[in-house]
Amino acid sequence: MSLTVTSLASGSSGNALLLRCGEDALLVDCGIALRTLEGLLRYQGAEPGQIRALLLTHEHGDHALSAAALARRYCIPVVCNEGTRVAMGAELDGLAVEILPVGQLAALGPFELRSFHLPHDAADPVGLRVSAAGATVAIAVDLGSWTEEVAAGLRGADLILVEANHDRELMRAAPYPWAIQQRIIGPRGHLDNVQCGELLAHVCATTPCDVWLAHLSQQTNTPQVAAAGVRRVLSLAGVTGVRLGVLPRRSPKGPAAAPTWRAEDRLLVQRRLL
Ligand SMILES: [Zn+2]
Ligand SMILES: [Zn+2]
Repeated sequence: MSLTVTSLASGSSGNALLLRCGEDALLVDCGIALRTLEGLLRYQGAEPGQIRALLLTHEHGDHALSAAALARRYCIPVVCNEGTRVAMGAELDGLAVEILPVGQLAALGPFELRSFHLPHDAADPVGLRVSAAGATVAIAVDLGSWTEEVAAGLRGADLILVEANHDRELMRAAPYPWAIQQRIIGPRGHLDNVQCGELLAHVCATTPCDVWLAHLSQQTNTPQVAAAGVRRVLSLAGVTGVRLGVLPRRSPKGPAAAPTWRAEDRLLVQRRLL
């Protein structure tokens, strides 16, 4: 029995991450249509009924779009903090909701987890650190800047999934309205490639780990630009123990396309994602 992590979708058009250990599973975020999610799960040989809990990082639509629909259809408890529950409003009424205060350790079957604060413009957005069978994945997407709390949440994990949302030059040239651009690049918006590299250089200075760059913008980033930007910062910092993968920006269409990390092969990302 070991930890397996599969990215079902990543980016502003939807996020969903499947964590499995033996017959147990957790889903982190559910920001894609329910029918799409059901198909992607089945491609992975997983049934929605196996999902022990749906962990919500925050209430934004690209993370929570069909959370309530999934929970209702399959009687899956939703785990989130009080701020996110309140921000979800009546959507969660009548559903089993377990409140997980930020920083508190929880056990769900073979999984142990705790959350940490992320600087982002939602009610109480969090990153997550989940361990099972001796392996740990840490997740921080949707953050406009990083803090020592974020770094501590990620440090020492076998797989770090972190946002590399946009490239600064491409963002400057993008035809976004000024207010939207300011929101994205602000300290409670989204992390750019250089900030992501700086965070990883800080976190991975002494501990080798696998990294997945996540939540890439469709308009202002590409997998190649993100990887090159992060690698440049790591190289300047003299950090060599990071093995980078980049998550595709759209939902994968089939089984071969879903990036999967297995604990038994840690430090070896299973697929070449570029
Ligand atoms: Zn968000
Ligand atoms: Zn998002």
